[in-house]
Amino acid sequence: MVSKKLPFNKQKMEEIIQTHPTPFHIYDEKAIRDNAEDMIRAFSNVKGFKEFFAVKALPNPYILKILAEYGFGADCSSLPELLMAEKAGITGENIMFSSNNTPPEEFKKAKEMGAIINLDDISHIACLEKVAGLPEILCFRYNPGPLKGGNALIGKPEEAKYGFTREQLFVGYEILKQKGVKRFGLHTMVASNELNVDYFIETARILFEVIVEISQKVGIDFEFVNLGGGIGIPYRPDQERIAFDDIANGVKDAYDSTIGKAGIAKPNVYFECGRVITGPYGYLVTEVRHMKHIYKDYVGTDACMANLMRPGIYGAYHHITVLGKENEPATEKYDVTGSLCENNDKFAIDRMFPKIERGDLLVIHDTGAHGFAMGFNYNGKLRSAELLLRPDGSVKEIRRAETIEDYFATLDFVGLKSFK
Ligand SMILES: *Cc1c(COP(=O)(O)O)cnc(C)c1O
Repeated sequence: MVSKKLPFNKQKMEEIIQTHPTPFHIYDEKAIRDNAEDMIRAFSNVKGFKEFFAVKALPNPYILKILAEYGFGADCSSLPELLMAEKAGITGENIMFSSNNTPPEEFKKAKEMGAIINLDDISHIACLEKVAGLPEILCFRYNPGPLKGGNALIGKPEEAKYGFTREQLFVGYEILKQKGVKRFGLHTMVASNELNVDYFIETARILFEVIVEISQKVGIDFEFVNLGGGIGIPYRPDQERIAFDDIANGVKDAYDSTIGKAGIAKPNVYFECGRVITGPYGYLVTEVRHMKHIYKDYVGTDACMANLMRPGIYGAYHHITVLGKENEPATEKYDVTGSLCENNDKFAIDRMFPKIERGDLLVIHDTGAHGFAMGFNYNGKLRSAELLLRPDGSVKEIRRAETIEDYFATLDFVGLKSFK
């Protein structure tokens, strides 16, 4: 069994909460840096490798800035994400704009920024041309439909709203060629939180084969192929992480045996992962507020589904450690809950723990991606702070907690905007 380690102990966390009240997400900077380095090392044998971090996973400019030090770009899908990447110093073709059902003004901004625009639909060629003119470089998102089996989180590709059909790709690139576009990319994203290495290699092979066929039939050269995101992480203690080396080696073999043999131009290989870059290195820290014993036993925390939605909406497993009780036997069965008026507001159901008491600190693991980011204000719940645990052990607040003033900020109603 792989154990779930923490970058802090109870004593350290008690110090942190003196100045940073719970709940909050805390990110382990050193682990994020080590992981980024490991990815770059592993993929160094893959042609032109580059990772564009999916901003939606952890939209915080301090994190984007750290990743940019390793040459990572940003994968954005909305105007605020574009602006955040730009402020973090990620500009021009270091930004991949992979959106869908895109507002025309966002195409305009992406074009002005010189970002690489990844079109989700054939009709968006005309839309982009109209609002901003066609850029020199363009990418299409491919939906392989029934050619590719689905994965549990993202579903069957043929039922997914994303991308071009195979036939549309040929028509689309022909249109771009006619209109004078010079540089081309192809993208797909068909999995989410996938831990099976072969899945990525098969997907890469499908894309590489399509690239060979389009290059030959349409007569264009591809500058890059973007294999998307979706690499999973071991949320459960008995799961193993995917080794970047295994994906890199498999992708390289697939590349060499398709593109490498076809005598066509050799595109760079890009990824736009979010989860695997920061997911395991974030923790939601929360204090036990109440214990309740009715037909079942409940641990009531000061966090809720508004801070971490994945267990509530997907039934996703997130490991939970009771700080200071790591070595005590798990003898008690609890539901760990938040305070939303919503019965699926639970971080764990029927899970075994050591005996928990009011005031205990719980650490919910793997909240570094799609954690804080999916937060919301339902029930008047406020979003938490985000903290960065620096390599020297100090803590920096990289986003303050929301206040009631923030919650009321969009209301123009007597007495609420300045309720104090
Ligand atoms: C969500 C998303 C990603 C990142 O997915 P992860 O599972 O976090 O790696 C990348 N690209 C697109 C287009 C996405 O929608």
